[in-house]
Amino acid sequence: MGGKTSHVGIFASALGIPSVVGIKSLTTKINTGDQIIIDGINGHVITNPTKKTLEHYKAKQLEHKQYERKLLINIEKPAITLDNFRVRLMANIESIHEIKGLKKFGAEGVGLYRTEFLYLSSPSFPSEIDLFKNFKKAAQEITPQPIIIRTLDIGMDKQPAFLKSNDEDNPALGLRGIRMSLANPELFSTQLRAILRASFYGNVKIMYPMISDAQEVIQANSILEKVKDEMREKQIPFSDDIEIGAVIETPSAVICSDQILKEVDFISIGTNDLIQYILAVDRMNEQVAHLYQPYNPAILIALKHVFDNAVVAGKKVSICGELGGDPLATLFLLGLSNLDSLSMDPHSIPHVKKIICQSDMNDARKFAKQLLNLNRTTEINCFLNDEMRKRYPLDFQQNPI
Ligand code: PEP
Ligand code: MG
Repeated sequence: MGGKTSHVGIFASALGIPSVVGIKSLTTKINTGDQIIIDGINGHVITNPTKKTLEHYKAKQLEHKQYERKLLINIEKPAITLDNFRVRLMANIESIHEIKGLKKFGAEGVGLYRTEFLYLSSPSFPSEIDLFKNFKKAAQEITPQPIIIRTLDIGMDKQPAFLKSNDEDNPALGLRGIRMSLANPELFSTQLRAILRASFYGNVKIMYPMISDAQEVIQANSILEKVKDEMREKQIPFSDDIEIGAVIETPSAVICSDQILKEVDFISIGTNDLIQYILAVDRMNEQVAHLYQPYNPAILIALKHVFDNAVVAGKKVSICGELGGDPLATLFLLGLSNLDSLSMDPHSIPHVKKIICQSDMNDARKFAKQLLNLNRTTEINCFLNDEMRKRYPLDFQQNPI
């Protein structure tokens, strides 16, 4: 069930488990004991393969493992282009247990901590002390590198069992992300207090999900200020200059990103939801998975618009959706000029780093311009595949889209 960027897909990828999603009636076609090949790169599932197919895939698997091993050679090196433009490569995490393993991939901090999984695995709302302990541990383990804690983004396919009342016809357009937090200020304040307390122990930043306009940021910030005041009164230590960011993942946030940028220190583009909302294609629905096209021209134009606004505002821009971890997108994203960081499934960091280290900003800018001039998704996909293969032949042998 679900699309590639549904949360089950994101989880599988975080755990390094090859997966293919959205194959209808698969379980009726597979019997216990059947041999199965899962080709997570090309999206194929092969049941009861012939000896020849099996040998082919074993060779392919070995080749892929060798390629991945080679990528790890650059773990200690920062991601810097040939002409010295640096991009911070950060990790998306769903649980603090992942933090210990991040060094292995060369992550330079956590660019997105999806805190809702703390709530999903709990029988009731976690208490402030439970949240604080969790965030403090995360901050201490990653310090001096930064960790961006995203406030609660339950809703849609992330529905805690204890929140039964949230029965909506259109949950993707319902009370999710910051809307849920603003509708439940007590719940939101508890989480903010826990994050602020943890900020004393490391380099912690706060990020609001599902922002639709600047007004919501202002409302969230005003609750944050109230919580800060209470903490000052009680002399609870926290980092007073904690940075605040917004996830840009709704069409309205893209259009008015200039207004949102005035209220925050940084923005991070959540392409998983952004693609769903701009293209009106449910990211969970396998029936329309073929229409979920990250390289639709509307998405590229939207990204360009946000990046341009960030340049004018002089604020940092990052990408925390899956597109940020797709090496095929790296040159284009560099070409949007002021990319500060990319946050991704940690397994993707070495791949993306390799592309950045072989790239040149002049070429990237020209490349982005060319891509933005194309009008059809098929044209863009072909151009991307051909050009990236030409430039980085060793890195795109087996990754067609
Ligand atoms: C996104 O929407 O791109 C994102 C990073 O958040 P999530 O996948 O958790 O919705
Ligand atoms: Mg999102």
